[in-house]
Amino acid sequence: MKAAIFEKPGLDNLKVDDSAERPKPTDHDVLIRVKTVGVNPIDHFAVSGARQVKPLPHIPGAEISGIIEKIGDHVEDNLKEGDKVIIHNKVFDGTCDMCLDGLDMLCRNGGLIGVATNGGFAEYIAVPDKNVFKIPDDMGWDLAASLPVTTLTSYHALKDASLQVNESLLVFGASGNTGMMTIQFARKMGAKVIAVSKNERVKDFGADYVINDYGKVVEQVREITQGKMADVVLNSVGVEAWQCSFDSVVVNGRLVTFVALTGADLKLNVQSLYLRQVKLIGSTGGTRKQLKDLLSMSKELKIKVWKRFKLEETKEALQALFAKERDGRILIDVDRS
Ligand SMILES: [Zn+2]
Repeated sequence: MKAAIFEKPGLDNLKVDDSAERPKPTDHDVLIRVKTVGVNPIDHFAVSGARQVKPLPHIPGAEISGIIEKIGDHVEDNLKEGDKVIIHNKVFDGTCDMCLDGLDMLCRNGGLIGVATNGGFAEYIAVPDKNVFKIPDDMGWDLAASLPVTTLTSYHALKDASLQVNESLLVFGASGNTGMMTIQFARKMGAKVIAVSKNERVKDFGADYVINDYGKVVEQVREITQGKMADVVLNSVGVEAWQCSFDSVVVNGRLVTFVALTGADLKLNVQSLYLRQVKLIGSTGGTRKQLKDLLSMSKELKIKVWKRFKLEETKEALQALFAKERDGRILIDVDRS
């Protein structure tokens, strides 16, 4: 089958050819004909060598939508050939303490599809039935290919931060992939959203206020919240926005983060942390239950696509990921028929 594949880490070693065999599903597996895949930093890290992958040669691709081509003999009854589906991209054993607690993304023996196993930048992928979620027939592929990573990460972070009705949420990286989903879910949860972005478009996703200057964030949040500051701050940027994220949290508020695109090592004034009783929350991925929950709420979610590529252009798609002018999602149409 046709796939984007590499033998050694490095973007230049990535090629698209027919060398990979079509996967053979086991009794509990589902073979999926891939339609559209989302391109995310994790795919770049997998190809560049920033994340160790297996097996080698390796097929990357973590955010996958497609159509069931074939089901194993003992697959759950709710799945059948021809169903439109998305893939929960976590490898998990279902037996460790984390899995038993429903935290499959933290499985002690787990990993990510596309990193710990071959991914979806290919015509076909076989995955366990417990990773496969049916989507509504009328859902578009662009949104489908944005649910398992982009949307789930945002949704999980807001759940982890226990965002409540009428609370104020300050979002850094608001016009980015996770940012635009965060805004939409925060509005659904009844929160007031203050977005930090140079792009006024974030208002289309439901932001109540937009702050376009990092230097003025703290001052403007103070003004908007009438001196109180933000109940929850979501930093999806990293170090670059750390200090103003921290300074914008209300006393006893929450600061949640799930990505470090502008750097990971930061300076923290511990005294300021405990005296203001700020809760720091690290968040990653999301659970299968949350993916199922958000599926039922996602029909009217808006998604902004910046560029789309063919499978043959996977390298270009990965290169475009960190382009300064990026404005929206990057997708690969593996099969647009
Ligand atoms: Zn586990």
